[in-house]
Amino acid sequence: MLTNRQLFLQHLGQTSDSPLMIEIERAEGVYMYGPTGEKYLDLVSGVSVSNTGHHHPRVVEAVKRQVDLYMHLMVYGEIIQSPQVRYAERLAGIFPGELETCFFVNSGSEAVEGAMKLAKRFTGRSRIVSFKKSYHGSTHGALSIQGSEQLRNPFRPLLPDTFQVSFNDEESLFTIDERTACVVAEPIMAEAGVICPINDFLKKLRHRCTETGALLIFDEIQTGFGRTGFMFAMNRYNVVPDILVLAKALGGGMPLGAFISSNRIMSALMKNPALGHITTFGGHPVCCAAGLASLNVIIEDNLTVRCNEKSDLFRQQLRHPLIREIRGEGLLLAVDLANSDLVRYIIANSPKYGLILDYFLFCADAFRIAPPLIITRDEILWACGQLKMLLDDASKNLIEK
Ligand code: PLP
Repeated sequence: MLTNRQLFLQHLGQTSDSPLMIEIERAEGVYMYGPTGEKYLDLVSGVSVSNTGHHHPRVVEAVKRQVDLYMHLMVYGEIIQSPQVRYAERLAGIFPGELETCFFVNSGSEAVEGAMKLAKRFTGRSRIVSFKKSYHGSTHGALSIQGSEQLRNPFRPLLPDTFQVSFNDEESLFTIDERTACVVAEPIMAEAGVICPINDFLKKLRHRCTETGALLIFDEIQTGFGRTGFMFAMNRYNVVPDILVLAKALGGGMPLGAFISSNRIMSALMKNPALGHITTFGGHPVCCAAGLASLNVIIEDNLTVRCNEKSDLFRQQLRHPLIREIRGEGLLLAVDLANSDLVRYIIANSPKYGLILDYFLFCADAFRIAPPLIITRDEILWACGQLKMLLDDASKNLIEK
């Protein structure tokens, strides 16, 4: 009989020739467990998904309760489903400005697609501006605006009339004009290696969009739900977009995406013609129930505020000659080693040290630290101890050789 490892390679489509290849049987809190007693501390959260940790009892209970009532009923937007309306109402209560109407979809990429379509319909324009080294998803539209020519090029032709400009560069703002339907921006650029805005760049971007009538879309798929020490990065920088895009932690561990706007803008998808975005499983009731339970945990357990103390502890503890810089906000951190071979070694060997680590798509010199927000002080101390041993090991094996 083939092992799961062999079956994984034979029967599952692969995304690279170097998958992490560890097998997980169960996950709880900040830990993942292998079939023969391996235990790993998760420093990635499935890429900013498991903000309330794995198998949170309140999330699991909400899922079970909803499964017992109903699962899929009908395509999105026809039947009043309590988990959807309750979650949308709760979200509207925590968003600033006019962000009150939520269009639920399945994933981050689909939410980005929906947001771009909405902006085109609302403005009657076609041009889309985004930023170099941004990541917005892998579907054709989202791929067209993400900021890596290397990832984009093999799939041409893509969406026309898209422009990628430099983040934090005021000159870029002049690309935005009366032909621009929207600007899509991550308020903190995650896959670029956690690049934060400087010199009020987001405020200036907001101003230029307002001036030209272009809609500002914030992709908070990675930065949302307390990850950066604020509920959303837009709260940190006091800038409100016209459309907000969410996924990942939105579903509390279940697949869910959403684009959110004012009722006035959102109504552009419902007429002339109707059905501006159709999605069968968007806003799946089990996913909405899980997401609402997870959001309640984040708020009631004050995970957002405590995230900053935990971030400081990582920064204090992670001192090592191989570390050039630790960047980021809250528990979205990039540990920069200024050397991509070292980063590859650290990530490949992290399971041996009981840790799960991951790369950034567009920053080969750094690895990611983004644990569940429930991580405790003792768990951080232990993880940093392991990481320093792993860095020593890398020093011996790569640098001194
Ligand atoms: N936007 C950002 C900032 C992301 O990090 C991702 C996924 O990593 C996406 C969009 C795409 O989300 P999904 O993988 O759910 O399609």
